[in-house]
Amino acid sequence: MEKIKMVTPLVEMDGDEMTRILWKIIKDELLIPYIDLKTEYYDLGLEKRNETDDQITIDSANATIKYGVAVKCATITPNAARVEEYNLKEMWKSPNGTIRAILDGTVFRAPIVVKGIEPCVSKWKKPITIARHAYGDVYKNTEMKIPGPGKAELVFTAEDGTVTRETIHDFKSAGIIQGIHNIDKSIESFARSCFNYALDTKQDLWFATKDTISKKYDHNFKDIFQEIFDNEYKEKFDAAGITYFYTLIDDAVARVMKSEGGFIWACKNYDGDVFSDMISSAFGSLAMMTSVLVSPSGVYEYEAAHGTVQRHYYKHLKGEETSTNSVATIFAWTGALRKRGELDNIPELMDFADKLEKATIDTIESGRMTKDLALITSLQNVTVLNSENFIKEIRKTLETMI
Ligand code: NAP
Ligand code: MG
Repeated sequence: MEKIKMVTPLVEMDGDEMTRILWKIIKDELLIPYIDLKTEYYDLGLEKRNETDDQITIDSANATIKYGVAVKCATITPNAARVEEYNLKEMWKSPNGTIRAILDGTVFRAPIVVKGIEPCVSKWKKPITIARHAYGDVYKNTEMKIPGPGKAELVFTAEDGTVTRETIHDFKSAGIIQGIHNIDKSIESFARSCFNYALDTKQDLWFATKDTISKKYDHNFKDIFQEIFDNEYKEKFDAAGITYFYTLIDDAVARVMKSEGGFIWACKNYDGDVFSDMISSAFGSLAMMTSVLVSPSGVYEYEAAHGTVQRHYYKHLKGEETSTNSVATIFAWTGALRKRGELDNIPELMDFADKLEKATIDTIESGRMTKDLALITSLQNVTVLNSENFIKEIRKTLETMI
């Protein structure tokens, strides 16, 4: 069979530890035999980031803007222990944080559904995608403990010196206050990312806040979404046969539990933090979750939602067998290859991505899986595979399809 040709390179961001090991096996077993793989390679492994004073991370994000599609391996976010372990010059920032700041995006996370790993909520038949706004609110707050009686105020001083103030509370005794903010421009790009992603995946979009209580702050989110929808997306949604649905956050939670899934749930920053963990664990495992960063300008970065699986890596270094689930990393590649195929009009590449995803799911549904899934599956006669053999079994399934 002739290998599939690519036109534009994918931006390939390599990473750390166990996921770096999986990265190479996935390429060797599942990609290079079938695709004339064209990538622009950036090594975001911690050693290289340290060597380049983290310039490599910035370069990889800029390359993503240039080419439009990136695929990223999980990377270490250094803490004090890592500074010592890798003898770092500095405690470098989270690569995901750096890349997000440059691409200005929204993160979409969706569970990968397979038979035999049933969601805890029995009504859920299709995945629920969480779209999390990644700027502001309680994540960029200013807090104060109030020691005793006194007046707390919200004060805004405009550039021309005009002062606006509101009383927060007349304290009669000790208490607490918190100041949070968001920026219209960031909410607007969040809204556009969500609307574009809904059109891209042909799924309805839900959005919810607490605007009945927060009549200015949350209401501003609601108004920005509605205005952008009415002016820029309504006709496109009608043509695609999908809907935009706004409701109160408590109503949304109740409806999500009773739904069959198959939609995108746009969440404010805190709601997204909380509900993405709820959704992923209710669907089974973090290793069965896709994650893509979509920028408002239409740039895509695909990754796994989990980390570098450090505990397994140390076992691997000791020569012990590991059973690390590579599904999320495989789906990062298929997501990126499909998008590249779509942008460059290469149907064979899109078809290959579909087949590789199907081969991965079929392999698990036939009872061949890694330990994390074997522990929670309802399937009988399960074969537990190590990291490498699981990928080799996927290749066998793939061979029967090509
Ligand atoms: P982690 O790598 O997600 O792993 C936590 C635990 O979850 C593992 O020990 C393992 O449980 C289980 N697990 C996660 N992924 C798995 C997989 N693919 N297959 C099987 N089991 C899996 O989180 P961490 O250990 O807290 O973080 C390790 C490093 O990853 C840190 O340096 C952190 O900075 C980095 N990190 C990177 C990203 C990213 O790049 N996107 C995200 C999060 C964390 P058992 O040990 O019970 O088997
Ligand atoms: Mg969280």
